[in-house]
Amino acid sequence: MIQNHPYQQIKNALPTHAQLVAVSKLQPAEKIRELYQQGQRLFAENYVQEALQKQEELQDLTAIQWHLIGHLQKNKIKQILGRFYLIHSIDSIELLEALQKKLSEKNLNQKILLQVNLSQEETKGGFHPSDLKSVFENCKNWPSLQIIGLMTMPPLTSTPEESRHWFHELRKCRDQWQKMHPPLTELSMGTSGDWPVATEEGATLIRIGTQLFGARPAALK
Ligand SMILES: *Cc1c(COP(=O)(O)O)cnc(C)c1O
Repeated sequence: MIQNHPYQQIKNALPTHAQLVAVSKLQPAEKIRELYQQGQRLFAENYVQEALQKQEELQDLTAIQWHLIGHLQKNKIKQILGRFYLIHSIDSIELLEALQKKLSEKNLNQKILLQVNLSQEETKGGFHPSDLKSVFENCKNWPSLQIIGLMTMPPLTSTPEESRHWFHELRKCRDQWQKMHPPLTELSMGTSGDWPVATEEGATLIRIGTQLFGARPAALK
């Protein structure tokens, strides 16, 4: 095992309450296989079609745990049923409704996180913190969905110390709603640039791409 590989460095630095999610979007399946062979099990993709292709290609990695972290379009729901351990990016009531409908038709359950747009940037998806009340009050309408935590992305231009503010806010939000909804344990926050700060603020899932895999090839779109 190569001790100075970024993977080992991150693993060594992670507190026990945080799990590493390797973000493999736009990276070839072979890179996922290499990291799996070093012991990594949680991998996250952003784009449904790309994710399903890689799942097919990597079927032999039986212990892999797939996460979806990109915006989920309603017309893609059918394709993702039963395909992901956890979806981090549930960002509207309409999506909760649509997911519930399709899951119940297939008798499936799905673990999800709610993406929270704390900085309330217009261009970014996610629930505003004030929307969460109606989500948690209406949980019984979505019995096939297990809401186990919150996810956020600070504004792209933030320094790690500026991100700390948003991570801290997400934790406060989680702590507040957990009183009403005890399964709300997870905090998905922190990426290559700011994960040490995120773990200090209580992240349980950190999402790292570039630092593990190097720069991403450009999207083929
Ligand atoms: C791409 C992506 C990441 C990984 O970002 P890096 O800076 O490469 O670590 C994390 N979270 C989400 C939602 C992403 O889309």
